[in-house]
Amino acid sequence: MHIFQSTYKLMLNKFIILICTALLTACTTSPTGRSRITLMPDAQIKQMGLQAFNDLKTKKKQDNNIRHKQFVNCIADAITHETGGSWEVVIFADKSLNAFALPGNKIGVHTGLINLVDNADQLAAVIGHEVGHVLAKHSNERMSQKTALSIIQKGAALLSPTTDAGKLALGALGIGGQYGLILPFSRAHESEADIMGLDFMAKAGFDPRESITLWQKMDQASQGAQPAEIMSTHPSHGTRINELSAHMPVALKYYQQAQSIGKKPRCHK
Ligand SMILES: [Zn+2]
Repeated sequence: MHIFQSTYKLMLNKFIILICTALLTACTTSPTGRSRITLMPDAQIKQMGLQAFNDLKTKKKQDNNIRHKQFVNCIADAITHETGGSWEVVIFADKSLNAFALPGNKIGVHTGLINLVDNADQLAAVIGHEVGHVLAKHSNERMSQKTALSIIQKGAALLSPTTDAGKLALGALGIGGQYGLILPFSRAHESEADIMGLDFMAKAGFDPRESITLWQKMDQASQGAQPAEIMSTHPSHGTRINELSAHMPVALKYYQQAQSIGKKPRCHK
């Protein structure tokens, strides 16, 4: 399975290089240095984010608990002070463990997640991660991959293979579309958001080590009765914790620097 996955990932990488050569502007470098394809206009992605957030605000009940608002705003302010830009934060009255950020600088936090965390550092880890997805333009990349994939599939269909090898290749593309191509890139996005989030939280003065506790708590909670919605889109815990641990020395340096210049956000539930 893993061999197949890496084969398809390699195929998509080759295709991306091909597209990048044809359309120079479509190829960009991500904040952690990955080559990636961004075909969509940023303004359009932003508009989609704003629309989605507006829909959520009209459909979902909001949590107007003052203490929750102060807690979440205090954390989000400290983090977005590091990233720049002005961000809107809304708490949704939803018991599931979830938080998200959308293009257009929108952050949503569910009440369930506020109840789960032991301290501000843990929630800072999630908010930093979600903001990382937005700043790294992962939505644009995801939509561009889908476009690239449909071009590959259409191209393969046009060939109308008559040989067994041709049919095999076509079948492989179909399987690749479902399991091979998209999945490894989603994990790449998760890793990137984790590393970016860890740096943001540490630079804002939150203890980056709490990120590991947070993901462990999320993992435990998702195995119990409590729904952990975020886990369905944020898989593979062992890998996540290993990567966070590997990056921890860098993040701890940022944390110590922040502390030394008095960045000690006091955010309490
Ligand atoms: Zn994520």
